[in-house]
Amino acid sequence: MTNTHATSSCCHTPAPEGHTDLLATTAPTSDHATECPVMPGTVVNKATAEAAGLFRDYEGQRYWLCCAGCGPRFDADPATYARAAD
Ligand SMILES: [Zn+2]
Repeated sequence: MTNTHATSSCCHTPAPEGHTDLLATTAPTSDHATECPVMPGTVVNKATAEAAGLFRDYEGQRYWLCCAGCGPRFDADPATYARAAD
């Protein structure tokens, strides 16, 4: 018997499929997802955000927010967040 079993198992590290799918579906450039202007880097699903009321219309542009905490923060300084989202 050789060490084949031990070496093959250590070379085989499957990627976590759930995580890969999550990254693919949350690409900021896709039609249904965008980035939260208040928390850049946080991907927001537009439909989910709208259903939850987590969006703001500012100067003809709609901004989607990642959580309820971002609403008041956007309202407090919409110009800054709108500019950051551009
Ligand atoms: Zn948020």
